[in-house]
Amino acid sequence: MTNVGEIVARFEQFAPQSWAEEGDPVGLQIGSMQQTVHKMMITLDVRPEVVAEAVKNNVDFIFAHHPALFRPIRKFDLENPQNKMYAELIKHDITVYAAHTNLDNANQGMNDWLASLLDLQDIEPLLPQHEDKLFRLAVFVPQAAAETVRNALTAAGAGRIGEYQDCSYTISGVGRFTPQPAANPTIGNLLEPTEVAEDKIEVVFPKKICSRILKVMRTVHPYEEPAFDLFEVQGNGSRYGMGRVGNLKKSVTISSFAEYCKTKFEIPHLRVVTGDITRKVSRIAILGGSGSQFYKDVLKKKADVYVTGDISYHTGHDIIASGLTAIDPGHHIEQICKPHLQNLFEQWNNENKWQIEVIQSEINTDPFIFI
Ligand SMILES: [Zn+2]
Repeated sequence: MTNVGEIVARFEQFAPQSWAEEGDPVGLQIGSMQQTVHKMMITLDVRPEVVAEAVKNNVDFIFAHHPALFRPIRKFDLENPQNKMYAELIKHDITVYAAHTNLDNANQGMNDWLASLLDLQDIEPLLPQHEDKLFRLAVFVPQAAAETVRNALTAAGAGRIGEYQDCSYTISGVGRFTPQPAANPTIGNLLEPTEVAEDKIEVVFPKKICSRILKVMRTVHPYEEPAFDLFEVQGNGSRYGMGRVGNLKKSVTISSFAEYCKTKFEIPHLRVVTGDITRKVSRIAILGGSGSQFYKDVLKKKADVYVTGDISYHTGHDIIASGLTAIDPGHHIEQICKPHLQNLFEQWNNENKWQIEVIQSEINTDPFIFI
């Protein structure tokens, strides 16, 4: 048995909400973090047909890539199909959570899944990467309580460096203080200079969890007034970013690469934007969703082809003029996140004994059909 909050907390270790692009309305969309979950459903989009599918399958939690509430609601008129869908979700106690650009930015997330589907080699980030800001906490603790404080800090998420967990550093010394008349000292007496054998424990953590770490430190520290230092540090923060670039095992013509994309993405058609479809290509950039505004970054990475969705007419002209080739397989190829997310949630379900069922939406939410 678990709830939405626990499931989301595990997911956000993989793709923190703070990794979303600015203004992207990710996170809890409708419902409650306290909602008990028996069955969750993964979907690319939250559409009325998807909600009907969730109701039919007794789903209590919908995990979506695209946020359900993209536009603000001004009037909750139930004649509006979008509002009616929200009302259905509330009526059936279904909580909806969205992981959008934080999933695109995650390491081994959406863009890595797309790049590996095309079997790209030597994959590297396409856009300049962001780096999490790190803080370092140094806290002075009487030696008898050092282990408790250290364990509480690492359990709260401090001390993660790359693939290492529970990282900390301790140095021993002597702490001195004189409790004043209004104090309530754990060790020592009022107005008596006191010396205590103390450990200085140092841990690093991402800036975004700073308030949680300080709260935990104050809760477990035995002193009335814990002494500590807090610094911002450079380097070692997790790096994340949008898009990937890599190489095909051998160069092929643009037309055969386009056919290859159709097979891999299981789509009947795609759009090719090129000055010469017979040209041979080997270096491919890919960015799920609408990425045409980043085509200049693709040129900087010396890629021959840019695979992304929602390319507009005039941007298509600009791309051809720049000498680049683009392939627009549509936005809906991001549906490949469904099996990957299902695997991740099933793995976390086993590890945490949540005893939930994880299903994928089987509805095709692509608004376009080709005739
Ligand atoms: Zn998208």
